[in-house]
Amino acid sequence: MTGDGVRERKGAGVCSIPKGGNAQDLQFPIPEPSPFPRSPPPLSLARGRGRRYLRAMAKLYFHYSTMNAGKSTLLLQAAYNYRERGMETFLITAKLDNRAGDGCIGSRIGISAPADTFEAGEDLLAKIARRMDAGPIACVFIDEAQFLEPDQVWQLARAVDDLRVPVMAYGLRVDFQGHLFPGSATLLALADEMREARTICHCGKKATMVVRQDAEGRALTDGAQVQIGGNETYVSLCRRHWREAMGDTVSG
Ligand SMILES: [Zn+2]
Repeated sequence: MTGDGVRERKGAGVCSIPKGGNAQDLQFPIPEPSPFPRSPPPLSLARGRGRRYLRAMAKLYFHYSTMNAGKSTLLLQAAYNYRERGMETFLITAKLDNRAGDGCIGSRIGISAPADTFEAGEDLLAKIARRMDAGPIACVFIDEAQFLEPDQVWQLARAVDDLRVPVMAYGLRVDFQGHLFPGSATLLALADEMREARTICHCGKKATMVVRQDAEGRALTDGAQVQIGGNETYVSLCRRHWREAMGDTVSG
């Protein structure tokens, strides 16, 4: 079984991404309690003057969580809700390698959609502007947002402010060592609205941390923040069990 770095394992779909067979795949996301902008606006607001009103209300959203909380599923559901109302969306995900094929957002539960990609050094404001020149879009969706560079998060903020298009970013908050990803840190600083997608630790508490494990299931404490193509797997844990796994003394 080949690991896939810090990317979440995805189920097979139209864009066919390798399926994972690890313990964390047995975790299920806790349903979101409210229809935070997963639901697009009513049809009456999606046309004419209503569309201009919506553009004036554009915001930068950040949906964050640990791994395997179903972020990509939430993204694909939200994008589908827009399309169902005849509204175009622009889907973008990180281009880290080509193993999964270019341009696909996949979910562990098996749904997927084609997507554009972003890579280091790319100007996302220009990318979104080019897409808007080709035709109107109701929302931009970014998957794997933890891999954005801080400058790219600022470009997304400018797209919201200056192009008046809502941007919804989905990503991991912290890496396996408990450090914020730079992209996520900047999103936490700049986002107009944030929401946590939740999953649970084996003990039943909310999982907020993730451990990187080697092929024998031992927690790794060192290594690069972004690692592609190794044999590592990732397990989401509560902070207490993460501390325990990382060798910290846990009492009580
Ligand atoms: Zn726990």
